Amino acid sequence: MDVEPGKERFAGSFTQQEPISEEGIAAAVAVLRHGRLHRYNVTPGEVSEVAALEVEFAATLGARYCLAVASGGYALGCALRALGVGAGDRVLSNAFTLAPVPGAIAGVGAVPVLVEVTEDLTIDPDDLAKKAAASGARVLMLSHMRGHICDMDRVMAICDDLGIRVIEDCAHTMGADWRGVPSGRHGVVGCFSTQTYKHLNSGEGGFLVSDDPQVMARAVLLSGSYMLYERHISAPDPAVFDAIKQDIPNISGRMDNLRAAILRVQLRDLPARRAAWNARYRVVEAGLTGVPGLRLIPRPQAEGFVGSSFQFLLPGWPGAAVAEVVARAGARGVELKWFGAAEPSGFTSAYRHWRYAAAGDLPRTDRVLAGLLDMRLPLTFTLEDCAQVARIIRAEAGAVWQGMDASGGSI
Ligand SMILES: *Cc1c(COP(=O)(O)O)cnc(C)c1O
Repeated sequence: MDVEPGKERFAGSFTQQEPISEEGIAAAVAVLRHGRLHRYNVTPGEVSEVAALEVEFAATLGARYCLAVASGGYALGCALRALGVGAGDRVLSNAFTLAPVPGAIAGVGAVPVLVEVTEDLTIDPDDLAKKAAASGARVLMLSHMRGHICDMDRVMAICDDLGIRVIEDCAHTMGADWRGVPSGRHGVVGCFSTQTYKHLNSGEGGFLVSDDPQVMARAVLLSGSYMLYERHISAPDPAVFDAIKQDIPNISGRMDNLRAAILRVQLRDLPARRAAWNARYRVVEAGLTGVPGLRLIPRPQAEGFVGSSFQFLLPGWPGAAVAEVVARAGARGVELKWFGAAEPSGFTSAYRHWRYAAAGDLPRTDRVLAGLLDMRLPLTFTLEDCAQVARIIRAEAGAVWQGMDASGGSI
């Protein structure tokens, strides 16, 4: 699409994260120099980078135990297995999430039961209660998709009433909280990702946190601890392992010391990174306030979020009009992802594309996703970059809206 001469074009990259700091590089080089990259490869009395990272991550969340693993998706699958979910079991989850969530459920042979999303992009509690009763599911994998946290008080009350255990998918809520309780600390297990596009960057990686000694001992054994679990510090007493160590299969998915070394340095900056993301988020939000036909997602008072990405709705707009906004913004350098597209693209897919998770019809989710646009806000963007991105979206959504208005469009 051609852009009219004289129109500003955004030159930043939506996929460029910050470089690893010099301190992180030095920590990585120290591991490379001694060569003990495997978490259990320690000299007498040495605490591995991974074991130290687990202690530090648990402390930031006030969790009793933490296990570092190979990816966020691995953490989700490991959490399901640690709760005893197996083939044929039904697991509740959000219809609006990323593919690794239904994938983790399908990966243990279980059957995802997808729950509708609301216009606020969180799980629909009424549909949750209905599907929980109808499915007989014992577990909810609750995805805080794109960092939007549902009414945790209400959702936990529904689950507690029905004896449903909750695994939290905190891939987008590391550093976030609900009424001051860190995201990942409401359910029995919290799962996190340290993949490049999340809140800490080790390329690939993940964490599980829990206060439950049985669940965590099982997770540690599952992750491939062989009989070396005593080298964990943020883990239950060895006696808990002794009782089950021959019953739990080894499904290797450990983290290594190289990644842990760079994560330990980054973890100290998480509160500052949260503030930096939220400053950018608020600039975009202000820039998109009052655009006709465009709905911003409200952020509840109780939600302490991390604005590492931005979503908005074009509710009721015809698909062709949404696609035109995406194309026009794209031509001016603003990469919007559309969850209502017919085909999955890049990281973006929707429940209808997950044939392994036969969900049936979810009309409310269809309505929301049809108008849902999304973009990342990497910390390499300045506040002025964010203001420019908002100006471009504002202009292009406004132009498409006016065109529809003039042609007596269907909204
Ligand atoms: C990224 C992501 C995951 C999984 O993380 P990986 O580390 O890529 O396996 C899980 N849930 C959501 C919502 C995600 O965005």
